[in-house]
Amino acid sequence: MQTITLHDKQFKPFISETELDDAVTRMANQVANDLGDEVPVFIGILNGSFMLVSDFVKKYPKPCEVTFIKLASYEGVKSTEDIQRLIGLTQDLTGRTVVILEDIIDTGNTLVEVHRIFENENVKQLLIATLFYKPEAYKKDFKLHYVGIEIPNKFIVGYGLDYDGLGRDLPAVYQLKTTQHMTNLVLFGPPGAGKGTQA
Ligand code: 5GP
Ligand code: MG
Ligand code: MG
Repeated sequence: MQTITLHDKQFKPFISETELDDAVTRMANQVANDLGDEVPVFIGILNGSFMLVSDFVKKYPKPCEVTFIKLASYEGVKSTEDIQRLIGLTQDLTGRTVVILEDIIDTGNTLVEVHRIFENENVKQLLIATLFYKPEAYKKDFKLHYVGIEIPNKFIVGYGLDYDGLGRDLPAVYQLKTTQHMTNLVLFGPPGAGKGTQA
């Protein structure tokens, strides 16, 4: 793997395809072991989770259902806590075990909206599974039931995650290359990840 350039930024190799594969396999088996005979509804949060969901359900060793919702977070002009619902729930989930599949949990703002969405759905249980988790950035109290890989508070791309539209297609994960004068930029996210980025 080599350093790559997306728009104006350079990214260095961070997590290999093999490591991703291992993490997704581990998560799928953990969920399957915990749920026994229960047939879960996996719900991916678009756009970022599309690659994870595809790999996860192929590795899930038992029957399951799969669907998606689409959220967008707006930063910069609006508060990051203003999460828009672009595609909502379309099926009755009464009494079901729902497992949210998220690409990454950062501040946890998106997770607040996810809990709001399921508040009145009368699900049996709502479990949260995330491939990536930034513990230094997480500011909420919601339990994360399944975490693939904990990462430092730095911007990553690949495996579904984008930088201003690019990088989602990469099969491995890359980390923003930082130099001293870019420290603030990294802490607050790169420009272009603002204004209407889609989760
Ligand atoms: P939250 O802060 O609400 O937990 O994360 C919201 C969304 O921000 C994520 O679903 C993801 O789309 C985006 N995000 C957070 N951290 C990163 C990152 O390191 N890289 C990329 N590409 N997106 C991120
Ligand atoms: Mg994004
Ligand atoms: Mg996401």
